[in-house]
Amino acid sequence: MGTRDMDYDLIVIGGGSGGLACAQRAAEYGARTLLVESARLGGTCVNVGCVPKKIMWNTAQVAAALHDAPDYGFDVSLARHDWSLIKRKRDAYVARLNDIYAANLEKRGVKLLRARGKLVAAQTVQVEGRNYTATHIVIATGGQPTIPDIPGAALGISSDGFFELNSPPAGVAIIGGGYIAVELAGIFSALGSHTTMVLRHDRLLRSFEPMLGENLMTTLRDEGVEIAINAVPASIQRQGLAAGQGSGPLEITTAGGRKLGPFDAVIWAVGRRANSAQLGCDALRILRDADGHIRTDKYQETNVTGIYAIGDVTGRAQLTPVAIAAGRRLSDRLFGGMKERLLDYENIPTVVFSHPPIGTVGLTETEARERYGADLKVYSTGFVPMYHSMTTRKPRTAMKLITTGSDERVVGIHVIGAGADEMMQGFAVAVRMGARKRDFDDTVAIHPSSAEELVTMR
Ligand code: FAD
Ligand code: NDP
Repeated sequence: MGTRDMDYDLIVIGGGSGGLACAQRAAEYGARTLLVESARLGGTCVNVGCVPKKIMWNTAQVAAALHDAPDYGFDVSLARHDWSLIKRKRDAYVARLNDIYAANLEKRGVKLLRARGKLVAAQTVQVEGRNYTATHIVIATGGQPTIPDIPGAALGISSDGFFELNSPPAGVAIIGGGYIAVELAGIFSALGSHTTMVLRHDRLLRSFEPMLGENLMTTLRDEGVEIAINAVPASIQRQGLAAGQGSGPLEITTAGGRKLGPFDAVIWAVGRRANSAQLGCDALRILRDADGHIRTDKYQETNVTGIYAIGDVTGRAQLTPVAIAAGRRLSDRLFGGMKERLLDYENIPTVVFSHPPIGTVGLTETEARERYGADLKVYSTGFVPMYHSMTTRKPRTAMKLITTGSDERVVGIHVIGAGADEMMQGFAVAVRMGARKRDFDDTVAIHPSSAEELVTMR
């Protein structure tokens, strides 16, 4: 079939961060575009991810400031925090964003079908029994929380369930030690829940530079979070009852027979799996890895010509700006005449919205050693930031700068501490541009700040 015989130039399955960005950019170039989304527009990030999470992170920041207020001479008396109020406001904000996304699609002339899409042939997507054809098809179906298959697992909730809570649990267990686990632990703890983290190994954030997880563990423990290590959950049950029975407080039994609890809520935060099972991939022989992530080349194209995948469903750097960048660049290439446009997955900065936050870009020391051998020079510092010189609690800030070569090119920056979240974007530009340690040294510091330590390290 020729391009004009097709119903559309582009069909995008999934209206989350990546799908929306890809469809809108294509339509801006004049491509006839169909977007298929079965749930709320905006996907994970807007509805059950970054956006409502950041509002809860902000809520926790306010709680922390109120906690510190007497140390700064304020006489504050707090009755309570109204979780249900911030939930209502948060839900209303997200609903406004859902509407804005729908309006933006309409403005750009993207046709929206609100139903599930499935690939039935190389250039054909089926929606509610009807077939639609397009020259290019993009899979942007994201992922969903993993819940392991152990007895009583369904007694726990996932991050999706977290956003449905109308009140905080008095006692909560969070299983996992990755992004979501540490972010939720910080929120619950700041808002008054007795929080226990359940780690299957002995470290937090194992895929990050180790000093980040080490510092975070110290701070979380100092702030009253319990951390159970080497605890692999084997079952969840109501206390005193067999798995799946009765009502009452929850308890986790570990593989070693340890009992953890009681808890009012248990949250699974053990990773996410790709939404690729119901898409018709196998019939079309679209290659997926063992976890169901769709394989693509550097241009986001699958092994089937004209079918592409972007964002979380590909399993690479599962972050909103990554999905957006991959989607926009793909449309730039397909419809904007930018033949070589693609997303470079190196040096992607990321922030973990823990308390305190973590900002990182580039290689960990171990990764740098694997790539550059012994040709490394590493700079580190740690201190109590000035804000906390006045407060009773003393969370530390820690920084690491990893350089390579005689000219000390900066290949990794890792920071934990207040302000790390806003600090990292600018430094990521510098790393991307190939900055040397000398460029950092030659940059005049901003004083007094924590960020200045990154340009004064020796
Ligand atoms: P998604 O946003 O998941 O969108 C996929 C869409 O496809 C969904 O709307 C789904 O309904 C739809 N869909 C699936 N199957 C079909 C089908 N067959 N037909 C039609 N539609 C379908 N990232 C950050 O960068 N910063 C953060 O602070 C951050 N915080 C997060 C917090 C949490 C709790 C979680 C869970 C994630 C967070 N993320 C964060 C990650 C971020 O949300 C994802 O990386 C991002 O949403 C991925 O975008 P996507 O377009 O690939 O998929
Ligand atoms: P992560 O991959 O970050 O962490 C998963 C955690 O679960 C790890 O600590 C892992 O332990 C643990 N784990 C895995 N399987 C089991 C199991 N069977 N039993 C017990 N523990 C287990 O996943 P998340 O779910 O936290 O987040 C998913 C993705 O969403 C992130 O990777 C990130 O890309 C994105 N995200 C981004 C955010 C941001 O940008 N700020 C915020 C939230 C999510 P171990 O390390 O010991 O193997």
